Amino acid sequence: MNLLVTGGAGFIGSTYARMLLNGAPDALDVSRVTVLDKLTYAGRPDNLDLTDPRLTLVHGDICDPDTVAEAMTGVDQVVHFAAESHVDRSIADAHAFVRTNVAGTQTLLDQALRQGIDRFVHVSTDEVYGSVETGARSESDPLDPNSPYAASKAASDLLALSCHRTHGLDVRVTRCSNNYGPRQYPEKVVPLFVTRLLTGREVPLYGDGRNVRDWLHVDDHCRGVDAVRLHGRPGEIYNIGGGTELTNRELTGLLLAACGRDWSAVRQVPDRKGHDLRYAIRDDKVRAECGYAPQTDFETGLARTVEWYRRHRRWWDC
Ligand code: NAD
Repeated sequence: MNLLVTGGAGFIGSTYARMLLNGAPDALDVSRVTVLDKLTYAGRPDNLDLTDPRLTLVHGDICDPDTVAEAMTGVDQVVHFAAESHVDRSIADAHAFVRTNVAGTQTLLDQALRQGIDRFVHVSTDEVYGSVETGARSESDPLDPNSPYAASKAASDLLALSCHRTHGLDVRVTRCSNNYGPRQYPEKVVPLFVTRLLTGREVPLYGDGRNVRDWLHVDDHCRGVDAVRLHGRPGEIYNIGGGTELTNRELTGLLLAACGRDWSAVRQVPDRKGHDLRYAIRDDKVRAECGYAPQTDFETGLARTVEWYRRHRRWWDC
C-alpha cells in the first residue's frame, strides 16, 4: 500500500512518516511513503531518512495541480498534514494561510477524486472550535474559530467533509490538541522557550499566562492519526486529545525547571490579539472506535523533548 503524506518534512508529518517506516505494528500495511512538501521555513529534508528506499520526497506545493497529480500517481491513501500552522503569522498576514490551508486542501481533494484515492485523512486542530470556557468540545459541536489560522483550518475541514458528502470520497478528519515533541520549529511555545532558556535568554509570556492548552505528545498524535486511518469511518471527525491541561504560566514553570532557570528569565509581553483563553476536546470517540489512547505521560515526554533540543543544537541554532 502506497501512502502520500503531505507536509511530511514538518514537525508532525515527519514524525508520522518515520513512524510508518520504522515499523509501527499497526502500519505494516504501508510499503511506500511519498512525502509532498514545499519545504517552507517549517519543513526540513533532514527530518526524514532519505536513504530509505521506501521513501520518496517530492519538493512541491499542494496548491499546484500538476505537482499534486504527479505525487499522487500510484498512491492508495493520503494523509494530509501540509499547512501554514502558526497563529501569530496568520495574525500578521493571513494570505498564505488561505492559499495553502484552503486552496491547497481543495487541490488535493480534486486530485484524490480524479485518481480514485481510496482514503483521505485530513489533519486538523481543536482550534476550529474556538475558545471553550467550561467543559470540552465534541465532534458534533459547532465551529467557532477566532484566529485566521483556525478559520482557514475550519474552512478546509468543511471542504474535506463536503467532498465526502457530495462525491463519496472516503474522508476522515482529525482534530488534535497542542502537540509537543522533537523537531518542532522554535516559534511555537515549547521549542521557543526551551531554545531560549538553554542559551541564557529571556522568554516572552503572553499577557497574564492564564490561557489553557491541552498538551499531546507528537508520537501519540501520530498513533491517533494512524488509528483513524485504519479503524475510523468515512465522513467522520475524530478529536485526538492529550489529557494534560495546563495554563501557559504552569507550562512556563515546568520549562524553567527543566532548563535550570528561574522566573527572572520570564518577560511578560502584551497578549496575542484575540488570544483564545482555553481549548478543550473530548476524545472518547477515537478511543472507543479506533482503540486510541495516549501513551506518553506528560512529565516524561516533556523531559525527553527538552533533552532532544539540548542534544540537537545544530538542528535549531542555525
Ligand atoms: P509545521 O508548520 O511544522 O509543518 C508544516 C509542513 O507543511 C512543513 O513541512 C511545510 O514545509 C509544509 N507546507 C507548508 N505549506 C505547504 C504547501 N503549500 N505545499 C506543500 N507543503 C507545505 O506544522 P505541524 O505542527 O507539523 O502541523 C501539521 C498539521 O497538524 C497542520 O495541518 C496543523 O494545522 C495540524 N495541527 C498542528 C498542531 C500543533 O500543535 N503543531 C495542533 C493541531 C493541528
